[in-house]
Amino acid sequence: MPSPSITSFVTDVFRLTIWLLLLMAIFMPLERLFPLHPQRNMRSRLGSGIIYYFLNNLLPKLLLTMPLLLLTGLAHRLVPLGFYQHTESWPWYVRLSLALVIGEIGAYWGHRWSHQVPFLWQFHVLHHEPEEVNWLVHTRAHPVDMVFTRFCGLAPVYLLGLAQPQGHNVDLVPALLSIIGSIWGFFIHADIGWRLGPLEWVIASPAFHHWHHTNDGQEFVNKNFSPLLPWVDSLFGTLYLPNSWPTKYGVDSPTSPVDHY
Ligand SMILES: [Zn+2]
Ligand SMILES: [Zn+2]
Repeated sequence: MPSPSITSFVTDVFRLTIWLLLLMAIFMPLERLFPLHPQRNMRSRLGSGIIYYFLNNLLPKLLLTMPLLLLTGLAHRLVPLGFYQHTESWPWYVRLSLALVIGEIGAYWGHRWSHQVPFLWQFHVLHHEPEEVNWLVHTRAHPVDMVFTRFCGLAPVYLLGLAQPQGHNVDLVPALLSIIGSIWGFFIHADIGWRLGPLEWVIASPAFHHWHHTNDGQEFVNKNFSPLLPWVDSLFGTLYLPNSWPTKYGVDSPTSPVDHY
């Protein structure tokens, strides 16, 4: 009889494989039908992208559950119980809407610190290394970077009692946050030449995030840190969203050993 942790790991790998096949079925045809860069290498870094996909979807769950449980436990001791009884009684869609905004602000600052603090940048640079940005670049990140940014996004959500850590019972709010964030993350990295008109100021588009990956010059870097809501960048003075697209991506020094695959 396999142990529950091995069964859970195998189930996760199976679930992620199904998700990967679905994502491939969506984004590969979209990138072929509406290419931003028709001349790019379609198979560029597909192997390493898939390795990062599994690594960065499996590790955060393993590494984040305990810190989030500890944080929530501590908060429940320090904050009057009535506060959490109040927030936990709200309908799931109210908690989800608030969690999207609160989590976005946490993720914005986590991401911004990853650019500004040299210790964090040494991990985050891996995400900025590709000179071609496509949907799979979303999960191309150092595990330390992935765990840190997710923690910054989730910590305020749990501290305010808008979600419960995923233990034996699955809470709808973090599950939906994860699905929405993940699908949109793949979309904004995709090599798709779509513009969303006025909506681009409300919800992140490929152009918004491609400008985050630009290597066009120092005046364009350190912009557009929000994963989902560009107005959060506007609020903190880092929004850059012209009608044009970047002409080149990447950083000047490669760092990843996984690209040999
Ligand atoms: Zn970044
Ligand atoms: Zn990115």
